[in-house]
Amino acid sequence: MPDVPPYRDPSLPVDRRVDDLISRMTLPEKVGQMLQLDARGDVKEIVSEKLAGSILHTSPQKMLEAIDLVAKTRLQIPLLTAEDCIHGHSFWPGATIFPTQLAMAGSWDAGLLERVARTTAVEVSATGIHWTFSPVLCITRDLRWGRVDETFGEDPFLIGELASAMIRGYQGGGLTDPTAILATAKHFAGYSETQGGRDASEADLSPRKLRSWFLPPFERVAREGCRVFMLGYQSMDGVPITANKWLLNDVLKQEWGFTGTLVTDWDNVGRMVWEQRVCADYAEAAAVAVKAGNDLIMVTPGFFEGAQEAVERGLLAEEEIDEAVRRILRLKFELGLFEDPRAPDPERQKLVIGSAEHGELNLEVARRSLILLRNDGTLPLDPAAKFRRVAVIGPNADSPSAQLGDWAGDSGQIDWLPDGQPREMIETVLDGFRAVAPAGWDIDHARGADIERLVPDPEGETYPDGQPRPPISQAAPVDRHLIDIARDKAIRADYAVVVVGDTVNLTGEHKSTATLELQGGQIALLDAIAATKTPMIVVLVQSKPSVLPESALNAAAIIQAFNPGMRGGRAIAELVLGLIEPSGRLPLSVARHVGQQPVYYNTVRGQHGNRYADLTQDPLFAFGEGLSYTTIDYSDLTVTTPEVGADGVVRATVTLTNTGGRPAVETVQAYVSDLVTSVTWAGRELKTYRQVSVPPGESRRVEIELPASACSLVTADGRRVVEPGDFELLVGPSSRERDLLRAGFTIR
Ligand code: BGC
Repeated sequence: MPDVPPYRDPSLPVDRRVDDLISRMTLPEKVGQMLQLDARGDVKEIVSEKLAGSILHTSPQKMLEAIDLVAKTRLQIPLLTAEDCIHGHSFWPGATIFPTQLAMAGSWDAGLLERVARTTAVEVSATGIHWTFSPVLCITRDLRWGRVDETFGEDPFLIGELASAMIRGYQGGGLTDPTAILATAKHFAGYSETQGGRDASEADLSPRKLRSWFLPPFERVAREGCRVFMLGYQSMDGVPITANKWLLNDVLKQEWGFTGTLVTDWDNVGRMVWEQRVCADYAEAAAVAVKAGNDLIMVTPGFFEGAQEAVERGLLAEEEIDEAVRRILRLKFELGLFEDPRAPDPERQKLVIGSAEHGELNLEVARRSLILLRNDGTLPLDPAAKFRRVAVIGPNADSPSAQLGDWAGDSGQIDWLPDGQPREMIETVLDGFRAVAPAGWDIDHARGADIERLVPDPEGETYPDGQPRPPISQAAPVDRHLIDIARDKAIRADYAVVVVGDTVNLTGEHKSTATLELQGGQIALLDAIAATKTPMIVVLVQSKPSVLPESALNAAAIIQAFNPGMRGGRAIAELVLGLIEPSGRLPLSVARHVGQQPVYYNTVRGQHGNRYADLTQDPLFAFGEGLSYTTIDYSDLTVTTPEVGADGVVRATVTLTNTGGRPAVETVQAYVSDLVTSVTWAGRELKTYRQVSVPPGESRRVEIELPASACSLVTADGRRVVEPGDFELLVGPSSRERDLLRAGFTIR
């Protein structure tokens, strides 16, 4: 092929093509390749002037424009297109929106989450988007943080299991699979360890603490081949994450052998100048970011001029830029984008976007995600009963946006879906009851309370970086009239299903909360409904756990739904009516009071006492908790390998007996406690779990096995080791000490 430059020749090895292309690129073209810019802006400027190698937040319309513009650039290097498809194809009209990551984590079902991610990839890949910024591997410890909904909860092992599954699902059959999309492990690492829950603040994390709990899920997926890592926003011990050579280079690339691509978070490079003030200008910041090992620079347009100036001023060698560009181009070649830019495929979209089959999976995952936290026996309602009146009450009983949660439709990140995802695709709790209640039952509804009023932010309309500042959520006043209507309906009803929670304005980046209380008129509503004595079923549709008033705690039942996705309302109605079994388990601990923050189960041993003077430290609900409609007894925990080598496998068996009248999917949790450690360490840590079906009246002998190498800790000098000695295996239905059977074993 005489006229085809080597980089365009697919028969040549990728390295050869990369070398050839780089040798043809000017410095501005190279710097442009490193830019990932916001396509809500002027796409012509982004593609033709800044020569961006990647775009994000691209509307369906602008996607086509961007592809045309690339064809007119000198080297026609295809764009990498990225989006936050974090629980479905968030911002594609009519896409399948699954429960949020936190909600799905309640299923503890890695296989199911892999299918969710695969399905998402099938929808996303039909729309010209190559890459999702998902999953989030941050550990939730402080519930005030605004992004709890994006996490898999508080436990490193569970996070690793579920993240690994989602990454497998997204990446499908590998880069050349036309339905595969790039997965992103984010936010690397420690971003969630905020001060006072404040988003993106300095994280007090030592390298050892990072290695102990925050890095393990990332290490796992790096070694398993997750293609992209995204940084967080925070600084640690004085070093902005963007400049953290130790983490990005020594740990991620050298130690774990990561050869994928790194992307900064939003304007991290600019933030080093205007926010963290560790760089005097964009040239300095560009040099710091490139030298630390970053590849794609998300939404810092000034990096374009800054990096070129850095080379001019001798702060940065062009060869250092080449290294990053090499990694970006390699990814584009490996994806085959030079041969097939994977443009939007309208035919495939018609077949897959929001398909009935995807809707079925969505319903399945919503069902598995629901967590029954309390039940005095009122649930399930008896669908065989001839006539019942159910009052479905509350501000989130019929709220499409609370159902979907953040990062979906009109949740605020993009501007082309002002009315959100199509209403007819979303089944709210009210819709769900109307759809599945037995014929002849009466389903009544009252809103009962408002959560918030939106008022302009007194600080102005935009942030310093020009991003729009969303309005502030102010608690709505208690509206007696709304409450009276709801109370009257509850009095007339046999059951009151009260759906309370939060809103997207109380969720997300920049939206940490100082309190965990249910906002607005919701507590007054719960109190009023509780006073009617009609059995009250509280359903929590919310981004993160809230603390609950006495009236809710004394309710007949409490169901934690988080943001259960498009079909969540139907799943909730099915659960209440006993058409499905509750099987979800909490992926994080729930506080009694905001002052208990942070509250998590795997705390380090050592403290004066175990309570506050004015409150217990015991969480309201603990990690791993969740009820069934039956009871499961655990007995006969036996370790069959009482002594193993450090490279051996610890094996045990336990008997589960279903002592009730309904089937159960039981999540058998196995924790390990290292009895004497050279450093202070967590009292117990989840090491494995099994999900087992147990029919009513039957028993199952369940085998548990875990590698002895998992019974490790991080030494004072930062090495992860197994310290030989005595351990205890704790097995049961939750992380609570009182729920766990114990048996000893020794590692030689
Ligand atoms: C968030 C990331 C997200 C990115 C792109 C950032 O502000 O922290 O999680 O992927 O924006 O939308």
